[in-house]
Amino acid sequence: MAAFQNSKVIVTGATRGIGRAIATAFLEAGATVLGIYTANEETAAAFRDECHTHTDRLQLYRLDISSESEVAAFYQQVEERFDTVDILVNNAGIRRDAVLAMMPAADWQRVLDINLTGTFLMSKQAVLLMMKQKYGRIIHITSPMAHLGFAGQANYAASKAGQIGMMRSLAKETAKRNITINCVSPGFIATELLDGLPPAQLDEYRRLVPLKRFGTPAEVATAVLFLAGREASYITGSVLEVTGGL
Ligand code: NAP
Repeated sequence: MAAFQNSKVIVTGATRGIGRAIATAFLEAGATVLGIYTANEETAAAFRDECHTHTDRLQLYRLDISSESEVAAFYQQVEERFDTVDILVNNAGIRRDAVLAMMPAADWQRVLDINLTGTFLMSKQAVLLMMKQKYGRIIHITSPMAHLGFAGQANYAASKAGQIGMMRSLAKETAKRNITINCVSPGFIATELLDGLPPAQLDEYRRLVPLKRFGTPAEVATAVLFLAGREASYITGSVLEVTGGL
């Protein structure tokens, strides 16, 4: 399958978890992938090795998506090298859980900075490039926590709800430029993001899911590639849930 041949795709958080599965799926579908990570060189090197058959179409960049100057420098390189970009997947995200009364203000801020402001900074620059070619697809990876809420995740839930609000406004702004923007909302997906949660809590989460299992990163990637396809041309401003029925 080469459905994305000649497509230039940015994936944030591309070297681990869900982002890694999304980047891999795009590479396998023929795209050139510009993958972003922020700190973990070891995982980035392992991902590069894993993708050795596609190395000519995989570029990895290390930056912090919450830094306006680092994002601007990244897009300058993208524009010089590729002129424009077709697809942006805002996947990078973090958790810093604590009940609100005990939450350090720094943890509130860091989660909002990466999950929401990072999504804003990456989307703003992508829209400017996509407007030149009057085509683009932007997909945010949000979470059901945006509307469900979970004890200990006020910062995370606020950041994910913010992504949806931003997506709905941006969809209206960019429609006339043929740029669609949607969210994919994964339920419980087996990645390092869930590491550190007590086994009893993980069992409880699993029981909540009608399909009675956690999803896989590849199952999320399937939804992302669907929304990123040229055929998904009449879908904008929507949230596609990949939750096992949650
Ligand atoms: P993960 O395994 O923890 O991976 C996070 C990725 O984001 C890593 O590649 C990390 O880079 C990158 N990253 C973190 N901070 C960054 C920053 N400031 N700038 C650039 N990149 C940064 O996470 P995941 O579970 O795959 O989750 C991916 C997305 O899905 C997140 O937005 C998350 O909220 C959402 N989601 C996950 C689940 C789930 O159950 N896993 C459910 C719903 C939604 P390094 O490797 O360099 O640290």
